[in-house]
Amino acid sequence: MDSNAKSIRCTNCSAEFSEAELEGKSACPGCGTTGVPCSIAEDVTVRINWHELRILGIWADNYAREHCDADGQKALSTILRRLQLQYPTKTPLTLMGGLQQVADALGTPVKLMEGGRNSSKVVTINPVPANEDKE
Ligand SMILES: [Zn+2]
Repeated sequence: MDSNAKSIRCTNCSAEFSEAELEGKSACPGCGTTGVPCSIAEDVTVRINWHELRILGIWADNYAREHCDADGQKALSTILRRLQLQYPTKTPLTLMGGLQQVADALGTPVKLMEGGRNSSKVVTINPVPANEDKE
């Protein structure tokens, strides 16, 4: 295999690298994570209904918000974003993505209590102007 062909993808930032570019590196040159990257050769096509994928996305995103560190949350958000970008006009794969659509449509911030009824953590989702990239 050509050692200059992109064969490895960072799970945190989606940057792709060749083996030559990663030689001697112990972290992603793009974002600095030390998380385990994926082999692009392991990319697969999976048949799934969008609603089923959305259920997985919502549960995973909610779990990550409660239980994962920043790197884990970033990796999950990057994966969900890569999936969403394959079908950008479909319903968002996370509740936060849906609330972002509401904030954008209303042109006003949306606030929610995160972490259940006993939590006092308030999350504010600000509208993003149409010409800016949404995370
Ligand atoms: Zn990275």
